[in-house]
Amino acid sequence: MMFLIGVLPIALAGIFIIYSVTGSHRASVASIEENLINQKIEEVSSFVSDAADSLELRVGLSDINKDFRNDLSNQTFLLKGAINGNPAIVDASFIETSALLPNFGKETSRIIKDGNSTGGAAIFTRNAAGEEEILRDQRNLPQFAVAKGGAKYIGPVYFTADGPMVTIAAPVRPNNSDEVFSVLTAELSLSDMARIISKSKLGQAGYIYVADNTRRVVASGKDIGQSEDNTMVRSLLAPNAPRQLSARYSNYSGQEVAAYGKYIPGINLAVVAEWPVSDADSILDNLRYQVIAFALAALVGVILLSVLLANKIVRPIKALEEGTEVVAKGKFDEPVNIKTGDEIEDLGAAFNKMTEGLKQLQALKDEFVFIAAHELKTPVAAIKGYLSIINDDLAGPVSDKVKEFIVKVLNANSRLIRLVEDLLEVARADAGKIKIDVAPTDIAPVVEETIGELKPLSDEKSIRVTYEKLAGMPKTLADGGRVREVLVNIIGNSIKYIGTKPGGKTIDIYHELKDGALVTHIKDNGLGMSKEAQAKLFQKFYRVATKDTIGITGTGLGLFIVKQIIEKMNGSIWVESEEGQGSTFSFSLPLEN
Ligand code: ADP
Repeated sequence: MMFLIGVLPIALAGIFIIYSVTGSHRASVASIEENLINQKIEEVSSFVSDAADSLELRVGLSDINKDFRNDLSNQTFLLKGAINGNPAIVDASFIETSALLPNFGKETSRIIKDGNSTGGAAIFTRNAAGEEEILRDQRNLPQFAVAKGGAKYIGPVYFTADGPMVTIAAPVRPNNSDEVFSVLTAELSLSDMARIISKSKLGQAGYIYVADNTRRVVASGKDIGQSEDNTMVRSLLAPNAPRQLSARYSNYSGQEVAAYGKYIPGINLAVVAEWPVSDADSILDNLRYQVIAFALAALVGVILLSVLLANKIVRPIKALEEGTEVVAKGKFDEPVNIKTGDEIEDLGAAFNKMTEGLKQLQALKDEFVFIAAHELKTPVAAIKGYLSIINDDLAGPVSDKVKEFIVKVLNANSRLIRLVEDLLEVARADAGKIKIDVAPTDIAPVVEETIGELKPLSDEKSIRVTYEKLAGMPKTLADGGRVREVLVNIIGNSIKYIGTKPGGKTIDIYHELKDGALVTHIKDNGLGMSKEAQAKLFQKFYRVATKDTIGITGTGLGLFIVKQIIEKMNGSIWVESEEGQGSTFSFSLPLEN
């Protein structure tokens, strides 16, 4: 019970936790991925837009035409500044915005970072010779159009041998007016973005990659190949597709992944996080182990606690229960000993008080029975004496009719005498005052005498009584007179409760040597009795009440007295019986050493 109360809630809570956590786990995985992607998008976006911001110049020149348009050294100085200011800018140029000038839409100067230079420090102009050389015409390109309009431009990602690139552009204005007089355009290397992406961590095995609108992998935290054509990327890059998606599918190497993807419209990229399910869900396994470990620990705790509580609660209750059984047997001398220091100890004390009260009550009752029986003894004996005198004509002649009644009264009186004697014997037994004088005794003659004594009764009922002695019967340590009393009672009962047996009524008496004692069996084929009756048979005043025993008189004290006598002689008595089949009463007596 304790176990159930303690463990069931823990087990249920564990199952509930695992169930609900499993349910919300997918959402959690997606949200972890989303957070990471958002963070990366933030980093990538600010990387690109910071670079574009740095291009938006305001130039403090008094005469644009003289100091800027016609002075290449100033342009070169500014381009160098742009390139040196941001290591990711590999190419920068100014484009003329005045439609009135012949160079409209064309590069007026350009600087390329030396691709071969590892430090990226070598910078040169295409027109190194100092000649006014017209470079590329960008009149119809979006970066020119957007920047000329006064806005910053960030182009789509494209690929070169050196990695992914993006074109950025910004307007150039004088610092005293908003008029755009040139566009500064640059090529930005996205290698740094690749570094940002590849550094990201997602559990143990998860990774992030970025794909452009041709599904080409621009940057990746894992070597997943040049392009990615899975459902996620395709769905994200499809026209009018949702901006973010979450799905589970097999990745480039056939591994089941929990994926989350987002489309960044500004730079036309899809950022996807793929987290192998085995890794993403391993947290669930950990949780399961933790829940099981916790449940086991709780189990051990509950078992220990149950044992402690059982000792504290159950043991004293058991002691009380045993105490009631002892009292039920009529013994009031065994108080219960409960020392729990709580209400149960108080209950034990109350129980002992009650037992003490019952003991006093019993002593009073025993005393009353003894005095009453003792006082009855003399008058019933006197009645018997005077009735016998009348019956024997010693008080003058008596008619036969009167004699007939006198005999009936005599019979009733002898039953009364018997009852009085039994009551006195019971009172003595209760007071522990049964007198027994044990001596080495041969039981056989006692049995034979008793059979002879009861012969008139057994003959009257046509009962065949047999007796089988043991060859070389050992002597017992017993009181011969008391053994006779016992036998009269038991054999007398067999005769009394023989019932009607068409096949012949029998009482067989025989002995057996067992465990150092002589056992005497008295077996009859009489009425027998039920198991419940057998259990109560040796109790005071107990009589079996069936339709067969209804007319048979008795006190219910005989077997109680017999048991006290046998036990006083260190023997024991028991019965085996079956209703309608008969009974075998057996008693043992210790052998003479
Ligand atoms: P009593 O015979 O005075 O009633 P006992 O104590 O001698 O009292 O017997 C108790 C009861 O046991 C009897 O009332 C009787 O119902 C039952 N009993 C005793 N001996 C036998 C027997 N041999 N066969 C059947 N019932 C018996």
